[in-house]
Amino acid sequence: MSHEHKGHGPHKVGHVKEVTSLANPIIKDIKALSDKKTREQSGTFMAEGLKLVIDAIELGWTIRTLVYAKAAKSKPLVEQMAARTVASGGLVLEVSEKVLSSITRRDNPQMVVGIFENRWKPLREIHPKHGETWIALDRVRDPGNLGTIIRTADAAGASGVILVGETTDPFSLETVRATMGSVFAVPVARATADEFIAWKKHAGVSVVATHLAGSVDYRTIDYKKKPVVILMGNEQSGLPEHLAKQADALARIPQQGRADSLNLAVASAVMLFEARRHLLSLDEVK
Ligand code: SAM
Repeated sequence: MSHEHKGHGPHKVGHVKEVTSLANPIIKDIKALSDKKTREQSGTFMAEGLKLVIDAIELGWTIRTLVYAKAAKSKPLVEQMAARTVASGGLVLEVSEKVLSSITRRDNPQMVVGIFENRWKPLREIHPKHGETWIALDRVRDPGNLGTIIRTADAAGASGVILVGETTDPFSLETVRATMGSVFAVPVARATADEFIAWKKHAGVSVVATHLAGSVDYRTIDYKKKPVVILMGNEQSGLPEHLAKQADALARIPQQGRADSLNLAVASAVMLFEARRHLLSLDEVK
């Protein structure tokens, strides 16, 4: 991947705003992004780390603000990202480490933070094709679980994630951190349970729901004949009846030992890699 800055002219120091005060209103606005409502109203979210910011920009995500620590100023890649931010109409802030710590709520913050416009994939635009796998999550609560599932979906080659019902926000800092950048690569849609059920009727997919009372061993299911949507239940209460009955198969992962169930993200990983087993190979060129 090339991170060359193409044709936007050199990065001009005049475009950079220096901020050292925690009381600066722009910094206050950025810090307010820790609140879900503010993220929704502004349609933006925060991602930390130079690599993530580069990946996001390369993948075509719109950056509104680039924040970097004074110490990172001389890094050529930071300069390039700053130039690209300015070229696309964004703001560049050079801040003290104290300000960065307060934005990210970390003692040893990443040197670079990007504020990006969020993106939701409209459910009506999802038309799964042969060989595609989607994962639908019923009321997922834990940001770490959601981030891990988005990352795992990316690694397994799934086409996207559908959030069903009231769920944790994929654009929270904690979830974005847990995705390790995959939030920029994996489309995420959201739907009510009724919208999901209505969509399923016409999508031509096979819904494989996972349930602790499932009677089908997940390894015996045919994941090849149709595009697959794997449906996972909520961390505490599992899959409700009205969603479970939409399933073409109710799958269970056999267990031994004392544990009642697997962690949601772990069960999702097991399912995704099984559903895509025939499509994954070590020989694949990235
Ligand atoms: N107390 C919940 C229940 O009774 O369903 C446990 C939920 S479990 C922590 C979260 C989700 O992971 C489940 O709804 C299911 O989708 C999936 N899961 C976990 N272990 C599983 C297993 N052995 N077989 C199938 N699905 C499993």
